[in-house]
Amino acid sequence: MPDAPASTAAPIAAQVDQLLQRLGVPKSAYADGELAVRSPISGETIALVRQTSSEEAKAAIGRAHAAHLAWRLVPGPRRGELVRLLGEELRAAKADLGLLVTLEVGKVPSEGAGEVQEMIDICDFAVGLSRQLYGLTIATERPEHRMMETWHPLGVVGVISAFNFPVAVWSWNAALALVCGDSVVWKPSEKTPLTALATHAIAQRALARFGDAPEGLLELLVGQRDIGEVLVDDPRVPVLSATGSTAMGRQVGPRLAARFARAILELGGNNAAIVTPSADLDLALRGIAFAAMGTAGQRCTTLRRLFVHDGIYDTLVPRLAKVYGQVKVGDPRAPGTLVGPLIDGAAFDGMQKALAESRAAGATVHGGERVAGIGGDGAYYVRPALVELPAHAGPALRETFAPILYVVRYSSFDQAIEWHNAVGAGLSSSIFTLDMREAERFMSCAGSDCGIANVNIGPSGAEIGGAFGGEKETGGGREAGSDAWKAYMRRATNTINYSTALPLAQGVTFDI
Ligand code: NAD
Repeated sequence: MPDAPASTAAPIAAQVDQLLQRLGVPKSAYADGELAVRSPISGETIALVRQTSSEEAKAAIGRAHAAHLAWRLVPGPRRGELVRLLGEELRAAKADLGLLVTLEVGKVPSEGAGEVQEMIDICDFAVGLSRQLYGLTIATERPEHRMMETWHPLGVVGVISAFNFPVAVWSWNAALALVCGDSVVWKPSEKTPLTALATHAIAQRALARFGDAPEGLLELLVGQRDIGEVLVDDPRVPVLSATGSTAMGRQVGPRLAARFARAILELGGNNAAIVTPSADLDLALRGIAFAAMGTAGQRCTTLRRLFVHDGIYDTLVPRLAKVYGQVKVGDPRAPGTLVGPLIDGAAFDGMQKALAESRAAGATVHGGERVAGIGGDGAYYVRPALVELPAHAGPALRETFAPILYVVRYSSFDQAIEWHNAVGAGLSSSIFTLDMREAERFMSCAGSDCGIANVNIGPSGAEIGGAFGGEKETGGGREAGSDAWKAYMRRATNTINYSTALPLAQGVTFDI
């Protein structure tokens, strides 16, 4: 299906209203509530969303808990049927929901639609998974015994999500949780409740078609962090998947640990790439440009640090600076735009602060200024910044959620790897090289310390089949593909004795 037209002429609030109605969101949810939603494209308020009270949140968790008790008894492949229907509903809504992502977050339309495609992809993955959810059979030391492991549903999965992937993150969690026999309570970012309401309405259609799913299987809580805290602290939520800043994870992690809840933390990144002398520089240039400037530098996997070998620095970096000067910044709905707006003024201030620190540290800064004349006063468009740093230090060591790429020269590969790993975050990474030894070393235990390590591809743009997440201050969680589903289930080890004797393990005797 082609993407819905993204006209720059239509007022955004009216377009949003039309989309929400088409997607099945009741007007009472977004017409006169307490939470003002802004479009970063123009800075204007586009909806007033009704927030969930903490009493309503607790009641929703109660419904989800009851739903889990019934849903866990439904066979996995039948649970997969619900996710198959969810995928169908998402396919039907792809153009509208993708455009709503563009209007609420400011992503260019191919990225808005791409986010919905990712939701469809994880549904497909989860449908197949619903016929697996396998455990192992393990050799036992006792004769005529069998030992195996069984995976059981876990309970209510809490999901807290960030503004920059307003709907995909829910689906990574929800599609797996549903086939695993869990229910889901979702607290989206307070900056993006509209796409969440739309996703919830789409999911309700899948539930209606499914027919006999228990009430409360998928719940939505709209509000600020205090509503998220209700999920964090509720003992009926055995696992919480929290996506957002490392600062958020520092608050949420200990509270979950205090009640022994399972945490899937997907936190900030400070992703780097190394460009070595043998690299295909044309390919590297394209890979770097997308990874550093795409989504206006507002992906957790955005490329933020670039280590370029001395021998190619003066060839690659001037070419990169030229691309930075030319890339089209503007209204994401306008044809040819590659870099849309920052989410808000706070993001702009954070970016300018990091650039001022860079200048004070002796950096050469290309770009980074506000681009005037697009949207209103409350819209923040910036030219992406390329910052040539004299040393790997200062603001390069932290994540600034804006399009800043710090470039540092290196001469020894060991040094580049050391700098690469010398930051708090450990999400994604890449190397551009045609040297097999360098590539293998980068992916080895002595190379990148990140959860994702790529070769000749930038660090951003993951596929659903792999497990997604990172180490260190990124939180250690894994979502989406591979065996990430195991975080949504509990494992039981079963030993069955089919003999007439009772041999004890380790040769222990206990004769009564
Ligand atoms: P944020 O931390 O400001 O907010 C994220 C979510 O957490 C929101 O829903 C917010 O309401 C909630 N929240 C904040 N504090 C909370 C608390 N104490 N208790 C409960 N809930 C709380 O992040 P953001 O600005 O929306 O998103 C950008 C950040 O998210 C970046 O750091 C980015 O790297 C990170 N991110 C990480 C991933 C990943 O998979 N690792 C994916 C997307 C974004």
